[in-house]
Amino acid sequence: MRSYTQFYIDGRWTSPVTPKTAEVINPATEEVSGEISLGSPADVDLAVAAARRAFATYGESSVKDRLDLLEAIQAEYERREAELGEAIMVEMGAPKGLANGFHTLLGKGHLGTAIEVLKEFKFEEQRGVTLIRKEPIGVCGLITPWNWPMNQTCVKIFPALAAGCTMILKPPQLAPYSAQILAEILDKAGVPAGVFNMIQGQGSVIGAALSRHEDVDMISFTGSEPVGVQIQKDAADTVKRVGLELGGKSAWIVLDDASLAANVAGATAGMMGNSGQTCSAGSRLLVPASRLDDVKRAAAEAASGVTVGDPQSDVAMGPVVSKSQYNIIQQYIEKGLEEGAELIAGGLGRPEGLDKGWYVKPTVFVGTNDMVIAREEIFGPVLVVIPYDDIDDAVRIANDSNFGLGGYVSGEDLDTCRAVSRRMRTGAIWVNGGFDFHAPFGGYKRSGNGREWGEFGFHEYLEVKSVIGWGAA
Ligand code: NAD
Repeated sequence: MRSYTQFYIDGRWTSPVTPKTAEVINPATEEVSGEISLGSPADVDLAVAAARRAFATYGESSVKDRLDLLEAIQAEYERREAELGEAIMVEMGAPKGLANGFHTLLGKGHLGTAIEVLKEFKFEEQRGVTLIRKEPIGVCGLITPWNWPMNQTCVKIFPALAAGCTMILKPPQLAPYSAQILAEILDKAGVPAGVFNMIQGQGSVIGAALSRHEDVDMISFTGSEPVGVQIQKDAADTVKRVGLELGGKSAWIVLDDASLAANVAGATAGMMGNSGQTCSAGSRLLVPASRLDDVKRAAAEAASGVTVGDPQSDVAMGPVVSKSQYNIIQQYIEKGLEEGAELIAGGLGRPEGLDKGWYVKPTVFVGTNDMVIAREEIFGPVLVVIPYDDIDDAVRIANDSNFGLGGYVSGEDLDTCRAVSRRMRTGAIWVNGGFDFHAPFGGYKRSGNGREWGEFGFHEYLEVKSVIGWGAA
């Protein structure tokens, strides 16, 4: 049993002002795996005051000092990487290969990228008589979700540290362990007192207190659209900057000249990865109507090939994060059936032989873009295949969404893929795959307004100051 009942405030492990604990459930077993403390606004006040005090010096620290700090964190992160992977497996059910692979690698990647960017970043530049300075925005509230815990926390903490900001992290209540270990890593690496603080607890208490706080300069939030809307309202009275990274319903367009078998198999397996709990997952697979029969066969075969089971074993997919998430996904599958979508793989209930744990069947529907299962973010292993008539129709369907986070285009002819990618109203598009830690990531429309990753992630945490007359004779 894990027991993490202290918060990290002002460089010390600190008991909550008002003691209150909550159990953490392992989604693979439905058993209690440990406990955390739930904080209150009084804890937030202490952490914000510490971050404000620390900003007076850390905000003026040199790039060299910040690089040394990030490199010390890097060494400590690498030393504890396996523990982070184990924690992620227990808290949100990622299979061990994924938890100890891509999950922890993403965190390390954002750290290494922040170091690379900081070495080259221009905080000052003269244009004519004016000096343009990029200065740290100040005290930041970082609010993160459970689905890729190290990705979401590291993509915020390291650019914020590199920029010279101080911060309070509010990790997800469902997946709190890896953040606790990350706080230990930062402590061990020698982050100055008050620069990084962490309080566990409920979003509606800790997240809301940070969003409303008079002395917090900026909120960076990753999570669902309704919570993002609430945070903007809570932050409005203090006119703080709010960076939002929200949900998605991303389209994967398979062009007519693409290798159908490989792409449909890849898109289907990709949708099931991390149990479908990826904001940028290609959850709408757009395929040529003339080849729908072949697509159905390929998708059904790929879905049935996805192994589901105990995250400690060598499976492709573990459970979803919680009972409530399981129930929501079941309701969407039921809705798809009611709406008349054609079920070609998976469906309601748990996979055979898995009676305990929040396991969902890898599910594939063929449907239309007006169905609820094609419009709302399900956040589970449910793929909707949608046939299109021609390229214009494919682009129209892709863009007919409230969201605009990810997008995928597969095809042999690169010029056609590029032309389609230009027409898609979405923040990140993968043309025939690829991966880049320096590519900005964020959403159009209701997928948010921020841009994280690489150099663009730094700008979230910087103010721009003009000193006019700097260059005057
Ligand atoms: P969520 O919105 O329920 O919770 C996210 C965080 O916000 C948690 O820490 C939660 O405790 C906190 N929170 C809840 N209520 C709050 C409030 N009133 N004020 C302040 N904070 C509050 O989301 P989730 O279920 O943890 O994560 C899944 C969602 O995150 C999906 O919609 C997914 O698409 C999205 N997501 C987006 C990205 C991206 O980069 N765009 C990445 C990952 C996940």
